Amino acid sequence: MAAANRRAPTPPQLEFGGPLGSALLLLLLPATLFHLLLTCRSGPCSLLSLPAPLPAPHAFWSPRALLLLLGWLGLQAALYLLPLGPVAEGTRLPDHTRLRYPVNGFRALGATAALVGAGLAAGLPLDALVDLLLPLASAAALTAAALSVFLYLKARRAPPCALAPGGNTGHPLYDFFLGRELNPRVGAFDLKYFCPAEPGPAAAGGRAAGGPALSGHGPGQRLPAALRGRRPLARAIGYYIFRGANSQKNIFRRDPTDPRVAGLQTIPTATGRRLLVSGWWGLVRHPNYLGDLIMALAWSLPCGVTHLLPYFYVLYFTALLVHREARDERQCLRKYGLAWRDYCRRVPYRILPYVY
Ligand code: NDP
Repeated sequence: MAAANRRAPTPPQLEFGGPLGSALLLLLLPATLFHLLLTCRSGPCSLLSLPAPLPAPHAFWSPRALLLLLGWLGLQAALYLLPLGPVAEGTRLPDHTRLRYPVNGFRALGATAALVGAGLAAGLPLDALVDLLLPLASAAALTAAALSVFLYLKARRAPPCALAPGGNTGHPLYDFFLGRELNPRVGAFDLKYFCPAEPGPAAAGGRAAGGPALSGHGPGQRLPAALRGRRPLARAIGYYIFRGANSQKNIFRRDPTDPRVAGLQTIPTATGRRLLVSGWWGLVRHPNYLGDLIMALAWSLPCGVTHLLPYFYVLYFTALLVHREARDERQCLRKYGLAWRDYCRRVPYRILPYVY
């Protein structure tokens, strides 16, 4: 009875194929990650090749890899907690409170780069990481799974207003996959802010170990200059769009009279909020995803176009964002009704202009 009371009042529409789909994804995502890493170690190194023979169990595990991963996470958590930058207030929550977030990502990045630079100058053998990819992937998957179990159990003690509307359906595996608590925190430490907030524990591990690892950035590997040049350019363009689009919407939502956004065209909605219909949000309906995808592509471009495997990350990320975009569209249609239909008519493309 108590458990029933903690569920969302009206059952939300199930995503990701419901309990069965999310159970399959829980298995398939880490399996894909290991399949790709093993394929990369095999001779043909092709996305379409048969599964590589499994190496001996000890190849998957190294206490050093787990220690390295935990040390890295610990360092980033310490940088997160250091009072290094401004503190921003988040959106208003159902209980009318606002959470506070340290905005110190760039400072943490600078501190990390300085530490790694100093380590390299002192002879840190960074290239040894390549040999540890498989045990690092195991450690990442294990850590992500342990964290997910902790979060699932922690949500049992959260008040109903702190629970995510879509992640408390009563289907244990589905709720585990979606995430039950909206903003899980341990003290002032916000786990959703610290970790990439994508559904599924395996997604985090896959992202951490899959992207760069599959792009062939081995130490000492010399890429042709033309290919080397493409990556920073694509990354800069992607970042410019991603940041521009997100900033524009954030500024507009905070203060529509801000001179940086006051001249943009908008559509009124019945909720009192307005929708931007020019600027980045007049180009496509999710310009931030476009920027994100170009940044993802930047990892793969230096590998040229002779192999599909280095493009796995961008393909996976495209599927993820297309699905996420469709979910957001449904939510916006529910929220804004006719005004959203008008927006879709005026801005017909979702992510890629003139294509999708
Ligand atoms: P988005 O930042 O894409 O925002 C979607 C919301 O923006 C809508 O629900 C709506 O909410 C508002 N909105 C939509 N269109 C307009 C418009 N024309 N004018 C004004 N407001 C509009 O949401 P996400 O949750 O997908 O992303 C959150 C953050 O995470 C973003 O910074 C995104 O770039 C990032 N992200 C990162 C990913 C990654 O793995 N790297 C993956 C996906 C997202 P409302 O009207 O209620 O404000």
